[in-house]
Amino acid sequence: MGWLLLGYDVENQDPEATVTRDFLKIAARVHSELDAPGMLFLCGRTLEHNTDSVLDAVECGLFEVGSHGYSHIRFKTLWQVDHNGREEVHEGGSLGEIVREVDRSCALIRNRLGIEPRGLTTPWGYYRGLGDRPDLLALLRSSGIRWIRSWMRNASDWVPVELSRQPFFYAAQGFPELLEIPLTGRHDCDWATNLGFEPREFGTVEAYADYVAGQLDTVAANDWVFCNNQHDTTTIRWDPQMIVVRRLVQRARELGMRVGRFADYYASRVGCG
Ligand SMILES: [Zn+2]
Repeated sequence: MGWLLLGYDVENQDPEATVTRDFLKIAARVHSELDAPGMLFLCGRTLEHNTDSVLDAVECGLFEVGSHGYSHIRFKTLWQVDHNGREEVHEGGSLGEIVREVDRSCALIRNRLGIEPRGLTTPWGYYRGLGDRPDLLALLRSSGIRWIRSWMRNASDWVPVELSRQPFFYAAQGFPELLEIPLTGRHDCDWATNLGFEPREFGTVEAYADYVAGQLDTVAANDWVFCNNQHDTTTIRWDPQMIVVRRLVQRARELGMRVGRFADYYASRVGCG
């Protein structure tokens, strides 16, 4: 068994760019063809520029909507050491900035889409998620958020995160209703530089899709969750036919995994689904 959860960071903030609109169209078409749910984690500013396109996409009935902040300010500082040992530090926002990011993005989702956001993914993602930031967990809980995807880095603030890093409640921090759903494996953001296509590690998008889908064998055998993420920008640039998602869904179903909604997974964990 096991679960496949498909999430998308929809975050292009250029008001002139068509990439988000193009992505939403193809994503709605592909998810409808596959009859597979997915979750759109929207940056508030992106939603402001693309409200009609988001409404059109949501109309297919397969997309949940959550927050990705308003303008993509990081929730924590990263001290990143990549696979070549190169170090970079990326500073996180202040608490005040993050409060505004969460409030503004959630209000936009409520007001423009009529949807109550219950999921949030943080910009970038961090080692150990938000486990060391109970102040942010309190903020998210009071905003109505119940599942968070923020653990997306390993101990070097880099990728991959081991597949065995599975969802857990932030009970030790005092938030037993907040579920972290880590993003395991590697990131599509790195397609362009580290694991993308010629002349890099994988020659074609199909080869990369096979690699990602191959991870599901381990996930299914252990009854784990695999949370996939793609971005509007990377999808349009590298995988406009959404071959990776098609392959993941196909393989998950072959393995008897549930391709589900985040809300259903959350409900199953709190014992009501
Ligand atoms: Zn992002």
